[in-house]
Amino acid sequence: MAKSVAPQKTTRTASSALRKLPSVDEVLRSPAMVATLDQFGRQAVVGAVRGVLAEARKDGEVTGDIAHVASVVLARLGTDAQPSLRTVFNLTGTVLHTNLGRALLAEQAVEAAVAAMRSAVALEFDVDGAHRGERDDHVRGLLRELTGAEDATIVNNNAASVLLVLNTLARGREAIVSRGELIEIGGAFRMPDIMARAGTRLIEIGTTNRTHPKDYIGAIGEKTGLILKVHTSNYRIEGFTKQVPAQELAILARERQVPLVNDLGSGTLVDLRRFGLAHEPTVAEAVAKGADLVTFSGDKLLGGPQAGFIVGRKDLIAKLNRNPMKRSLRVDKIRLAAVEATLKLYRDPDRLSERLPTFRMLARPKQEIEGLAQRLAPVIARVIGASFTVSVTACHSQVGSGALPVETLPSAGLSIQSAKARRSGREVAALSTAFRRLPRPVIGRIEDQALMFDLRCLGDEADFIANLATLKIPEAGDALA
Ligand SMILES: *Cc1c(COP(=O)(O)O)cnc(C)c1O
Repeated sequence: MAKSVAPQKTTRTASSALRKLPSVDEVLRSPAMVATLDQFGRQAVVGAVRGVLAEARKDGEVTGDIAHVASVVLARLGTDAQPSLRTVFNLTGTVLHTNLGRALLAEQAVEAAVAAMRSAVALEFDVDGAHRGERDDHVRGLLRELTGAEDATIVNNNAASVLLVLNTLARGREAIVSRGELIEIGGAFRMPDIMARAGTRLIEIGTTNRTHPKDYIGAIGEKTGLILKVHTSNYRIEGFTKQVPAQELAILARERQVPLVNDLGSGTLVDLRRFGLAHEPTVAEAVAKGADLVTFSGDKLLGGPQAGFIVGRKDLIAKLNRNPMKRSLRVDKIRLAAVEATLKLYRDPDRLSERLPTFRMLARPKQEIEGLAQRLAPVIARVIGASFTVSVTACHSQVGSGALPVETLPSAGLSIQSAKARRSGREVAALSTAFRRLPRPVIGRIEDQALMFDLRCLGDEADFIANLATLKIPEAGDALA
């Protein structure tokens, strides 16, 4: 309604500005555009000029100044040229941060992946013999060696492992799961939904806090495809609780001739007590306790690229590999190369905390992190000026990705607060945005109106300092924008 009040006037203003706008050709011929065309290519530049002019026409803002239009075009092309998937500094205190890409790869894995990207590789090719090789063969032996399982296969991620197992062993049949283990992992991985997609009927047993052997026994019938045990990765049920131990469940499943699948989630190949963490069941332990199949992730505690592993009984692995779904879930040569190199590091567990960034960061001593905080505090104080105060503070890091959910690691970092007597938190929010706008965004977390940087995951100190050079300190009022 309001729009119809002054249409004449708006149209006239817009059209007079429109007359002043330069044409696409005029902008392209301007001196500033010569180098730009060379740098970005004709198609991209023409597209950007058209876009900028169209927007100008729409809001009637721009005058006919060709140089101004050219500078807007240049700025836009510069922004568009930045990779969308940018590297950042993870100072959140969560080592395996799903939204920041989880595990960082070991140098050996990076090199292997790069070599595989640059060259043809013997992916499914038996170099010595005449018959065709299989891509899983590159990691099958290693997985067997490191887990004690009879056989192994690899897919896109652990969600895919679970989907493939359910679809292969329990399509049109039932899968029995304790109500205490019906997990939701971030990003829409909910066990009941995955079951439905796999064509499996979910049979919930027990209660949230207590599940007994008789609950399993009562549920097993003609239509049972498998029993699924799920690691409660991101939560813990405490108090009056009971679950059936893996070993007991395995005996029970064997008696009834129903496969037992243990979804370990993160899964670890070594005892984490080595790194001062709490004990998590290892994959080898889960296999030894009698699970027929064990599924786990590649990029959680294992410290490799995104992948899903399934290890266990040879006949069941063969069935999984025969499922046409396996073809859609398989991994490419780049990841396979990185997985192989990562797994090889596990042959020398004593050097894992030097070589594997995930363990290096998890095992990093608090004193070392504190020393880093002491060195960086004055540097940051200088850069952000007198409107903020910086202090070295103790904090707690998390493992992340649903591994050891209640476990925290004593750490240290920097706490940045507004120097104003009446802190509103707005200045701090604006400062956090400024850090995120750096060429390599610095991601911390806001806690009690302070910007908190946990320095556990900061490796490259010199790069971090150099990156601060262009920090734009928010001025009064910026916080509102
Ligand atoms: C993380 C997790 C998954 C999913 O693994 P992705 O590798 O993220 O696909 C499945 N089950 C459990 C128990 C998990 O913790």
